[in-house]
Amino acid sequence: MTGAGSRLPEHEPTNRLTEALLHSKLSAMITDLAQYKRITIKIGSSLLVDRSDGLKSEWLQSLGEDLAGLSAQGAEILIVSSGAIALGRTILGLPPRPLKLEESQAAASVGQIALGPAYKSIFGNYGINVGQILLTLEDTEDRRRYLNARNTITTMLKWGVIPVINENDTVATSEIRYGDNDRLAARVATMMGSDLLILLSDIDGLYTKPPKENPDAEFVAIVGEITPVIEAMAGSAGSDLSRGGMVTKIEAGKVATKAGTAMVITSGIQNNPVSRLQNGKRATWFKPATNKSRARKKWIAGQLETNGTLLVDTGAKAALLHGKSLLPAGVTGVEGSFQRGDTVVIMENDRQVLGRGLVAFDATDACLIAGCQSRDIAEILGYEGRSEIIHRDDMVLETAGLQNDTITNEG
Ligand code: GLU
Repeated sequence: MTGAGSRLPEHEPTNRLTEALLHSKLSAMITDLAQYKRITIKIGSSLLVDRSDGLKSEWLQSLGEDLAGLSAQGAEILIVSSGAIALGRTILGLPPRPLKLEESQAAASVGQIALGPAYKSIFGNYGINVGQILLTLEDTEDRRRYLNARNTITTMLKWGVIPVINENDTVATSEIRYGDNDRLAARVATMMGSDLLILLSDIDGLYTKPPKENPDAEFVAIVGEITPVIEAMAGSAGSDLSRGGMVTKIEAGKVATKAGTAMVITSGIQNNPVSRLQNGKRATWFKPATNKSRARKKWIAGQLETNGTLLVDTGAKAALLHGKSLLPAGVTGVEGSFQRGDTVVIMENDRQVLGRGLVAFDATDACLIAGCQSRDIAEILGYEGRSEIIHRDDMVLETAGLQNDTITNEG
């Protein structure tokens, strides 16, 4: 933790000064929303759905206004929306007791179909299209499916469409599910290389102890690193409409920050929650562990097994060292049996290892296009594949210092 705000009474001038100083210091660092180019925002069920009245349309309208504003400033927005089960149970008039798995799944199907038109109409007011994505755990855990999901969402963003994402609750079973949308949102944010994850919740952030039971709990304004001490602060702060409490938010923070995504937890209870955040509203900010590209490259370098080898010529080697992607034209040999999305080693013809990366074609197709021009891929394979065999964002080079460290938003 690099700093902590206080929960001291507002009337004390010193504290106001401290808060102001702290705020301006933080503003210069991570709290300025304008700096973020790709923002994933998670909306908790209790913000969207009122148990007796159903969808909170006015609130959603105000969120739409905020997000349309961010989008007009050039940010790409992804929404991870909860609320399917809560809305479904309201529409169906189900009793306020815990639901059985199959009941939640059935309620989710009713709620989800009602959420879609609500988002469509809100963003339609601003000329923005939305698209629905329902994910199951394997869609982000299996590398090929991960790449597919990422390509689809990237295309939506390229078209200016806001993805509205939820877990596919109707088919997710208890053993294989994200379980809560904090975890899902963190996976989405890291998969899409978001630079910020906003968790809009019914609590305004992290306290040194669960605040409801502990009046002396202090508010934590910024977390530099999620240590066991921070984890211990989380306690449990869930509401009965959503599954995620502070514990799942801190878990989400670990996933996000490790991958280089900053995270903020703030209360979304009032209208225009994102504008309020922009204007310095109370929130807990979590710093990204390191910059996005290094974290992502570390993930590729450290966590995956390799499934094959691509041999490359000296021209390709020079291009890679200048931060370029690996094109089929520079590939002189393909070894091993790998699938699209697997990790392969990149070697020079003399078998000196240059690096590794996630390959965009399976071994058979890679053999067919090796040595060919990217423009001929469609004709050779009969489908429009990626023009790179390994995109530079999906690649890590061995030699420290030679590695290109920038990341683009390209697929
Ligand atoms: N996917 C669930 C829903 O839409 C929400 C899970 C959560 O609250 O975290 O109802």
